Amino acid sequence: MSPAGSGRARLTVRGVIRRYGGIEAVAGVDLTAPPGRITALIGPNGAGKSTLFDCLAGTVRPDAGRVLLGGRDVTRLPAYARVRLGLARTFQQIAVFPTLSVADNVRIGAERRHRRRPDARAVDTATARALALFGLQDLAAEPAGEQPTGVLRLLELARALAGDPQVLLLDEPAAGLDTAQTARLVAALRGLADRGTALLLVEHDPDLVGELADTVYAMAGGRVVACGPAAGVLADARVARAWGGAAPGAGVGAP
Ligand code: ATP
Repeated sequence: MSPAGSGRARLTVRGVIRRYGGIEAVAGVDLTAPPGRITALIGPNGAGKSTLFDCLAGTVRPDAGRVLLGGRDVTRLPAYARVRLGLARTFQQIAVFPTLSVADNVRIGAERRHRRRPDARAVDTATARALALFGLQDLAAEPAGEQPTGVLRLLELARALAGDPQVLLLDEPAAGLDTAQTARLVAALRGLADRGTALLLVEHDPDLVGELADTVYAMAGGRVVACGPAAGVLADARVARAWGGAAPGAGVGAP
C-alpha cells in the first residue's frame, strides 16, 4: 500500500454517523483538516468528539458517511492500514511500553514507517529527531515506566511523529503537561503544521485552542454547531451554551 498521494494529505469527513443503541453519538459530521493547518475539535463531555476520532482513526466503523485521506476513501480500512497511509493518533489514555526505554518507545513509531523496507539508519535519524523535538534526548535511555505523566505525553507525541505522519490526530495532547511542557508542545505542533502536516486535535482548554488552532469545529449532541476561525467560534453563544458558559468571551459576536 502506498502513502496517500505525494506531498501532504488532507483529511476529509463527509456525513459521518455512528450510533450506539438508540443514541447517535456522531449525527452527521462534515469536517476538513487541511495540510499545514491546526484544526481543533471542541465541545462538552458526551458531544461525540472521541467517537468521531475513533471513526477517523479506524477503531470504530461509522454507520454512514465517508472518511477520505488525501482523496482516498479509507472508511472501510482498519486502523493499522490507515497508519501505513500516514494517519497517526495519540490517545487520551497514555499508552507506552513501560519496560522499554524512552528512545525504544519512540523507535517503534519510526519503524512503523520503514516496515516494508527496513532502514536502520533512517529509523535512528527519525528517532533522534523526534526525541529532540520534544526535549527528550536526556531521558532517551531511561525506562518509560519510570517517567511522570508530562514526559509520557511528550513521548507519545514523539512516537507518533517519528512515523512522519501526513495527518496527526491528537486527543487532549496537553492533559497532564506543566507550563514549560505545554509551551514545547505548542512550538512542536506549530513546527509540524509549518512543514505541511494536517493536525486535528480534541482539546478542552479554550486558551490553548485559541492559541493553537487555525480553525475550530464545536460539537454538541453529535453535531457540529459552529465552525470557523478560533476567535469567532470561541465567542459564539451556541458554543458557550453547549460548553456550559465556559467559553471565554461568551456572547460576543453571537448570532
Ligand atoms: P468526552 O469529552 O467526555 O470524552 P466526547 O465528546 O468525546 O466526550 P463521546 O465519548 O464520543 O463524547 O460520547 C458521545 C456519546 O456516545 C455519549 O452519549 C456516550 O455515552 C456515547 N458512547 C460513546 N461510546 C460509547 C460506547 N462504546 N457504547 C455506548 N455509548 C457510547
